[in-house]
Amino acid sequence: MKGVPVQRRHTRQRAAIRAVLEAAHRPLSIGEVLELAQRAVPGLGIATVYRTVGALVEEGFLTGVEIGGEPARYEVSGRGHHHHFRCRRCLRVFEVDGCLPEVQRLAPSGFLVEDHEILLFGVCPDCNSGKKR
Ligand SMILES: [Zn+2]
Ligand SMILES: [Zn+2]
Repeated sequence: MKGVPVQRRHTRQRAAIRAVLEAAHRPLSIGEVLELAQRAVPGLGIATVYRTVGALVEEGFLTGVEIGGEPARYEVSGRGHHHHFRCRRCLRVFEVDGCLPEVQRLAPSGFLVEDHEILLFGVCPDCNSGKKR
């Protein structure tokens, strides 16, 4: 990106990173953001992705998703109540719409459920069909 003014380059990198996360409809790791955003901005480096994602979290545009002690993934904020599905083969995490209304019933009598986490594990359609992604 020689010759491109620094400010314009930053704007382009940031726009590419935002676009990737908006299009994904699932939480992305820093590595996934880097790989996808490099298609639009070939010179993009991992330090820029870290810095930009950090800024987007601070601004409230992104929310961190932490699963099983793995490095955080990031999704666009404000998607409403939902859960996640983690593929054991490709390790991608997907969004699961909806919830179980009977969660409260799982609690012993006298206990009030205030919040919960549900994580599904298994194999995604791409991996299940043996298709290469
Ligand atoms: Zn998979
Ligand atoms: Zn739920």
